[in-house]
Amino acid sequence: MLDRLCAIIPDHPEPGITFRDLTPVFADAEGLHRVVNSLAEPFAGEFDAVAGLEARGFLLASAVAYAAGVGLMTVRKGGKLPREVYSREYQLEYGTATLEVHRDALPKGGRVLLVDDVLATGGTAAAAASLVEQVGGTVAGIAVVLELDGLGGREKLDPWKVHALQRV
Ligand code: IMP
Repeated sequence: MLDRLCAIIPDHPEPGITFRDLTPVFADAEGLHRVVNSLAEPFAGEFDAVAGLEARGFLLASAVAYAAGVGLMTVRKGGKLPREVYSREYQLEYGTATLEVHRDALPKGGRVLLVDDVLATGGTAAAAASLVEQVGGTVAGIAVVLELDGLGGREKLDPWKVHALQRV
């Protein structure tokens, strides 16, 4: 299903980068259903909240949280949240960026499942996971649809538990 629906765009957003676009998967009723169910499967009963990574992670995290009957936390790009935040600057596959969470985003000790569409170098997920810990949560795991092999993402996230629906 992922092989059939995921669009592969060579040289986007710059030459040499192969971008994987999952929006056709989200647009497909069965695709969305299967992806949302599969992301949380290995973590059943192990999380009290889901954190979505801006922006495509929000689409999935919201559905995963709803299906599991838990709350949703947003890990946002710098400058978007209106109240006091913790910030982390990190390296992207292309450039640098900042992620932020509200300081009171979680009850202390909450177990959080992080959700995003694609894991590449792991910088985004590592920054988000350390923000979850900074707000007093524990990281139940990191769930992504696609993991891009050979970029060291999984190694960067050790010892957090990483679940990818497909490695490419
Ligand atoms: P990382 O920080 O290098 O692991 O990059 C992961 C972040 O960049 C995620 O938030 C993804 O949404 C985004 N990203 C990187 N590569 C791709 C891609 O090929 N398709 C879609 N998103 C990507």
